[in-house]
Amino acid sequence: MSAAPRIGFIGLGIMGRAMALNLVKAGYRVAVYNRTRLHTMEFADLGCQVAATPRALAKLADTVITMVSDPAAMDAVLEGPEGALSALSGGNTLINMSTVSPDYTAALAKKCFTAGVDFLDCPVSGSKPLAEKGQLVLLAAGKKATVEKLDPVLKAMGRAVIYAGAPPAGTALKLCVNLIVGQMTAALAEAAALAGALKLDPELVFTALAANPALDCAYFRAKKENILKKDFTPAFPLQHMLKDARFILAEAAKNGLELPVTAAVEKLMEKSYNSGYGGQDLSVILRSLTECPPVKI
Ligand code: NAP
Repeated sequence: MSAAPRIGFIGLGIMGRAMALNLVKAGYRVAVYNRTRLHTMEFADLGCQVAATPRALAKLADTVITMVSDPAAMDAVLEGPEGALSALSGGNTLINMSTVSPDYTAALAKKCFTAGVDFLDCPVSGSKPLAEKGQLVLLAAGKKATVEKLDPVLKAMGRAVIYAGAPPAGTALKLCVNLIVGQMTAALAEAAALAGALKLDPELVFTALAANPALDCAYFRAKKENILKKDFTPAFPLQHMLKDARFILAEAAKNGLELPVTAAVEKLMEKSYNSGYGGQDLSVILRSLTECPPVKI
C-alpha cells in the first residue's frame, strides 16, 4: 500500500469500540462517528477526530468501516443526505463488518459498484474478548486485491482473514458460523438446566467437558461464568444473535432447506427477547429454560 489509509470508523458499540481502539493502537489515523456521541469521548481523548455525522466522517477518510447493529442501523449511517455514502466516491473503500443479511449485503455491493466505491463484505467471528485482543477472524468478500491491500488494517483487528469470494459470501459464511454459535450456546444452557433438574452441580458439566480433549472448547470456557453465576453482562447481545438466527432461517427457507434445530433455538431466543433480555448476553436463554413457567417450544 502506498500511503496508510485514513480510516473512518462508524459504530463504537461492544465490538466497534474494541476494533477501533486496536486500529488506533496500530498507529492508523482513525476518525470516528457514533450515534451516541458520548461514546466517542475516549477516542477524542486519544486524539482522534470525532465527526458530527457519517457524511462528515466519510469526508475525513478514504476507508470507511461500519460496525453497527443491523440493516436499519446500516441505513441510518449510510443513507440520506447525512449518510456516509453521500460522501464516498471512486478511490474510497467501504468495509462493512456488521452482520446483516445476504440480501442487504448484495444490494449494498451493487450501490457501491455504481458509485465506484470499493466494497468489502467483512463480518467478523469472535466476541468481545477476542475483539479486545485483536484476535477476531475476519470473513472477507470482495476484490481479492482489495482484501490483500487492506490486510494490515484487517490484521490490526483480527488474527486471520478468511477469503470467501464475492459479496455476499462473507455474510453467508458468517451466518453459517453463527448457526453453530447459537446451537452451542443453547446446548450449554440446556445441559446446565438439565443438571440443575437432576440435582447435579452444573459446574460438573463444564469440568467434564474441559477434561475431554474432544469437547474442551474455548467457547464453552468463555460462557462458563455466564451460565454458572447467571451473570449475563453482554459480550454478544441476545438481540443480535436473534437477528442472525432469523437471517439464517430466512436464507434456508428461500433455498428450500429446513433447519429444525436452529428454528427451535430461535424460538427460545425470541422468548428471552420478549422477556426483556435482548440487551443481555446470549447465554441469558438459560433464564427462559429455568424460569417458571418454562418455555414451550
Ligand atoms: P452493540 O454493542 O449493540 O453496538 C451497536 C452499535 O450500532 C452502536 O455503536 C450503536 O450506536 C449503533 N447503532 C445501533 N442502531 C443505530 C442506528 N439506528 N443509527 C446509528 N447507529 C446505530 O453491538 P455489537 O455487539 O458491537 O455488534 C455490532 C455488530 O457486530 C452486530 O451486527 C452484531 O451482530 C455483530 N457481531 C457482534 C459480536 C459480539 O459478540 N458482540 C460478534 C460478532 C459480530 P449507539 O452507541 O448510539 O447505540
